[in-house]
Amino acid sequence: MAVKTCDVLIIGAGPAGSSAAALMQRAGFDAVIVEKQKFPRFVIGESLLPRCMDLLHEAGMLEAVEARDYIIKNGAVFLKNEQQRTINFNEKFTPGWGYTFQVPRDDFDQVLADSAEKQGVEIIWQQTVTAVQLNSDGVMATIEDKEGETSVISSRFIFDASGYGRVLPTLLDLEAPSSLPLRYSVFTHITGDIRPAGAEEGKIWICVLPEENSWLWIIPFANGKTSVGLVAKPDFIEKLAGKNLDEKLKAAFQLEKNAKQRLADAEFCFPAVKIDGYSTAVKQFTGQHYALLGNASEFLDPVFSSGVTLAMESANRAAKTLIRQFNGEDIDWDKEYSSYLAQGVEIFRTFVNAWYDDKLPTIFFSTNQPENIRKQICSILAGYVWDDNNPCVREHDRAVNNLAAASAIMAEKKES
Ligand code: FAD
Repeated sequence: MAVKTCDVLIIGAGPAGSSAAALMQRAGFDAVIVEKQKFPRFVIGESLLPRCMDLLHEAGMLEAVEARDYIIKNGAVFLKNEQQRTINFNEKFTPGWGYTFQVPRDDFDQVLADSAEKQGVEIIWQQTVTAVQLNSDGVMATIEDKEGETSVISSRFIFDASGYGRVLPTLLDLEAPSSLPLRYSVFTHITGDIRPAGAEEGKIWICVLPEENSWLWIIPFANGKTSVGLVAKPDFIEKLAGKNLDEKLKAAFQLEKNAKQRLADAEFCFPAVKIDGYSTAVKQFTGQHYALLGNASEFLDPVFSSGVTLAMESANRAAKTLIRQFNGEDIDWDKEYSSYLAQGVEIFRTFVNAWYDDKLPTIFFSTNQPENIRKQICSILAGYVWDDNNPCVREHDRAVNNLAAASAIMAEKKES
């Protein structure tokens, strides 16, 4: 059986895998990616956060991404019939990017993988990592091609960036139950989106539906198509009018005034797809000779478009930590990697929980919010969740509870 060797083997060529590989290769270490699919391939998760721009830049990929002329996303709009809150990313507390892009992922992931290859990364396409053996001195991974032929790759370290493939969580028994209840997502791409004009065109819309903060996303692309999707508990989708997913998704459009108007001429580009069980968790992010990156570690919920940003942040941190280790430093991975990653995940967990228990919509739709608070929240929504100068980052839980209570009192006063 042929044996290939490298410094770091990476499972999966999504944003986490490609960017981690590029960073390792730029530092002079041999990175090999094994990717089971052929690109371009469809994947959901199309709205980036400004923090991504820093991470793309560090991975040497920003120029290639900018050359694609994706639509510019300079903020988000949260809507619930008459209520509206617009977030402009350039009005944030933390210094950093004021915009990013909305990206069809088939194209975006191909650009990142091409860029990694141009930087010297080897990608072994259409082969699947099927077994991993962790030894005292490194890793032996078995990969299998489409004909069932197997070969072995030996490396000093392995990054699992396999997304929902969840290779190491499955093989090493690292799966843990998610803290979030089961929700479904039903989505498609459409033409016929009646878009707002000018600089507002590229903002993501989050339209809140009447029950339990089920919501719709509307993400416009430069290619004339728009991604639309519904996130809701299973029984909400079950109850929607319609005999199939297309009809149910269209019925959901009718439930929020702004979505109804904007999507009145929508034509589906492909039949609506349903996915469930996307909230995942693991017992640990790292162990001897391995680290879990991106969705192969923990994924919470799509509502704040944090998935790709957290995937690339984890890739960036894991690569930098491994480079230090390869350069002779004694590394405490729990401190340097797991705790760092956990900070970002926990802040988004606070926001996701507060979204579904109605605290965050109450805050968002409250009028008269002090400017400093708006800016602090904006930083988090832009993905700058490691800025400890931001009070909303430092004390996210307390900040959200206090703000929700204050917003509710103000709303009551206004009504009376
Ligand atoms: P992926 O992009 O999933 O890449 C993993 C790769 O690994 C795949 O190409 C796969 O083929 C490969 N692979 C799997 N198993 C193997 C194996 N055994 N061997 C070899 N290769 C393998 N995020 C956002 O940032 N913005 C959004 O608007 C957004 N919306 C979302 C909406 C929904 C409904 C959901 C569920 C998620 C959304 N996300 C969003 C999250 C986003 O999709 C993910 O966080 C992101 O794709 C994770 O990137 P990744 O690199 O970790 O994994």
